[in-house]
Amino acid sequence: MRIGVAGASGRMGRLVTEEVLARGDSVAEPDDWAGCDAVIDFTHPDRVARHASLLAEARVPWILGTTGLSSAQQSLVAAAAIRIPIVQAANFSTGVTLVLELARRLAASLPPDVYDAEILETHHRQKIDSPSGTALALGQAVAAGRGEAMVVRAQQGAREAGAIGFASLRAGQVVGEHTLLFASAAEQIVLGHKALDRRMFAQGSVKAAAWAQGKLPGLYDMNDVMGLRTTP
Ligand code: NAD
Repeated sequence: MRIGVAGASGRMGRLVTEEVLARGDSVAEPDDWAGCDAVIDFTHPDRVARHASLLAEARVPWILGTTGLSSAQQSLVAAAAIRIPIVQAANFSTGVTLVLELARRLAASLPPDVYDAEILETHHRQKIDSPSGTALALGQAVAAGRGEAMVVRAQQGAREAGAIGFASLRAGQVVGEHTLLFASAAEQIVLGHKALDRRMFAQGSVKAAAWAQGKLPGLYDMNDVMGLRTTP
């Protein structure tokens, strides 16, 4: 494959470049993206509009890992997915993809008026979005399991029954830690994930680029790449 790497100078972009070359694939120059097999994007939400129009126009699959998109930016992604395959994931690791599925299944079985759901995430001090994309994906998994839409609320006063709580810590150079807690008056269930090396995100994104070859236009995620797609 010939892969365009958006944000090639960033923490993730450098690792994606290394992974592409390690696989024996090649990296396309930015002025050559229109002719490449996929563009892997770990950049900034401000880049979404430009990448959406450029890649949809050129019919190039888009592997989108950038988090913190506004709803307007997410609508641009959805519109581009009518013309190209897009694999969008807040977290390209195998472990988190499985944790999201487990979160959905647990939430489907635990009554929300009995079990409070709280999500805690910790990341390095440079991270600009909060809660993290992965924390929001966990919240969405819980909401999907409960059969409701996710609402992010600031915690004030006594806890509202059925709410999904979020808490974020920013410290040092933590790659990414997520904990989902279900707590009733009688027991607690804790689901957690710690990322120790961000290289696995790069590996997942390159795997997604290979998977996207020849796919119909649409908005896909790592469940599709890993063959985990289930009916709700
Ligand atoms: P980084 O700051 O190290 O790199 C960002 C890159 O984007 C740089 O090359 C920078 O030049 C470029 N860029 C383009 N436009 C920019 C702008 N307007 N402002 C700032 N930078 C701009 O960041 P990173 O740690 O590589 O993370 C990049 C994105 O990927 C973030 O949104 C992060 O949350 C996300 N991320 C996703 C996953 C995943 O698995 N989906 C994993 C890690 C990080």
